[in-house]
Amino acid sequence: MSTQEQDRLFALRQLNLLDTSPSESFDRITRMASQLFGLPIAAVSLTDENRQWFKSRVGVDHWEIPRETAPCADVCNSSHPLIIQDLLASDCYRNSYLANSGIRFYAGAPLVTREGHTLGAMCVLGTQPREVSEQEQATLRDLAAMVMAQIELQHAFGRIDPLTGLSNRHQFAEDLQDMERDAPNGRRVALFTEVVNASELSMFHRTMGPAFLDELARIAARCLQQAIGPSSTLYYLGGCQFMHLVNQASDAELLEEALRLRQALLALESTRDVPVLIHPIMGIAPFCLGEVTAADVLRIAHAACLDARQAGEVAGLFSLDLDAHHQRRFTLLGDIGRALDNADELYLVFQPRVSLGSGECLGAEALLRWHHPTLGEVSPGEFIPLIENTPMAKPLTQWVLRHAIRQAAFWHQQGETLQISVNVSATNLEEEDFAERLLDEMARMSLPSTAIEVELTESALIGQGQVAANQLKALIAAGLQIAIDDFGTGYSSLSYLHEIPAHTVKIDRRFITELGQDARTETLVNSMISMAHDLGYRVVAEGIENDISYRRLVELGCNEAQGYFIAKPLLPLVFEKWLHERTVQ
Ligand code: C2E
Ligand code: MG
Ligand code: MG
Repeated sequence: MSTQEQDRLFALRQLNLLDTSPSESFDRITRMASQLFGLPIAAVSLTDENRQWFKSRVGVDHWEIPRETAPCADVCNSSHPLIIQDLLASDCYRNSYLANSGIRFYAGAPLVTREGHTLGAMCVLGTQPREVSEQEQATLRDLAAMVMAQIELQHAFGRIDPLTGLSNRHQFAEDLQDMERDAPNGRRVALFTEVVNASELSMFHRTMGPAFLDELARIAARCLQQAIGPSSTLYYLGGCQFMHLVNQASDAELLEEALRLRQALLALESTRDVPVLIHPIMGIAPFCLGEVTAADVLRIAHAACLDARQAGEVAGLFSLDLDAHHQRRFTLLGDIGRALDNADELYLVFQPRVSLGSGECLGAEALLRWHHPTLGEVSPGEFIPLIENTPMAKPLTQWVLRHAIRQAAFWHQQGETLQISVNVSATNLEEEDFAERLLDEMARMSLPSTAIEVELTESALIGQGQVAANQLKALIAAGLQIAIDDFGTGYSSLSYLHEIPAHTVKIDRRFITELGQDARTETLVNSMISMAHDLGYRVVAEGIENDISYRRLVELGCNEAQGYFIAKPLLPLVFEKWLHERTVQ
């Protein structure tokens, strides 16, 4: 097949006309053709690879005939009108499919797209030989033009944004396919323009109304189109967001171009076309034709824009690393629900806490682990902050509490009176029934209240609302202990310490690991311990990694210690073994 024919077929298929249902808008034209010519048969006939397919027809029953020896196929090949006064008198068509089915007369005019591809023919047929006047030939050409206008109209529908008159993302998807064909593996760069961000958008909507935003989009569209020139296609993506493609260039040149466009938009403010301050952001995303889908291009270009905005920049290049980071966050957020239902994914490990005085193991901290089916082990340091402020925080902490309580109850039944500490997020305290559920679970397992300690960070404990304060009160009243986790890392003033309703202070590991290396840290740890003691707290040091800090903490009078030097977080069975070996020694 010639490349020309390949291109033609591609153009035809892109129109999504083949094998679609009949439509009145085409049938109206065929009926008119049949009447104007006084002939029983008329059709809009499209030339597919091996067949003539009728988008519309009168006087014929079938939908398609073979392309071979069909006069319409010749109209398509030559792109010229064809008149056959008598098929039986023609050497070419005497034995054609049409002649064999009783057709004697044929007149067809080509259906040509703006790009010059002939899709098929508008034709009229009769069962008697016939002549065609000049005027009738002109009429047939007009009818063919009407068919083409209808095809183009249908095609453009849904691809042009009525507000700005610009192509929309559906058109972009189609244009991208054309580009992939014309320049496979070619490199392009998507420039994304966000004239106003999502929060500005809703603010304008609220204060100025939707008509104002429509006008803003129109003005921005005109301004950007003028700045990029008439030969580049600007796409409107809704919400005052635009995109267009440019050729590959150096990062510096691309940034320069983005800033130039941004400047053009900002100039609108001074001309008073835009009566508000706008903060346009430009996203730049290079890509390779054929490697990404249209949706991907839009996504990465927008991502570049959002990343730039987040970084406080006015223009930014798409970063694969940042994108991978976001995708991973998105995956984790989306998958936690399934993990909660799937017995194999989440599990708890227990890190021993020992008395610095006696060396005895007093308890353990329950730490959550997630074995993700595709990403492998994911640290709670990564997924907890993501989930903390979503509705999943509640079921997740519920899961942890239930499993930690069951494990604690099991150990208690074995005669190990360990205190298990669990980490609870600030948002959990905002749950009205948090304390009630926790206490119920403990009661169900007949666990004494001293067997569980709740770890919360300083920020969760300070400045809480009434609901959180009530939850804490209820827990303390029931005899549970509260620990301030990561102590020293918050920004709260130490003077607040005496107001915090807690029993234990866990000094963050970043102070502990530097013990013995840095005199200032040592002073700090020393004063944290004595101040906490003065206020009546028990002090636990987190993250002891070596003998030096261990000994130093003993000297400083710290009560308990937790860290790799003593033991890493362990699976329950390993923990039991560790505990057993320790007691035997
Ligand atoms: P965290 O509560 O401060 O827990 C202590 C973290 O320090 C744990 O990290 C522990 O494995 C680690 N660690 C302990 N000793 C050492 C040491 O000697 N050296 C070093 N380098 N690290 C040590 P992990 O398990 O990765 O947990 C990180 C954070 O995730 C926790 O910090 C806690 O804030 C949060 N988290 C863990 N499990 C849960 C949970 O069940 N619920 C909630 N809300 N948060 C949790
Ligand atoms: Mg903790
Ligand atoms: Mg901590």
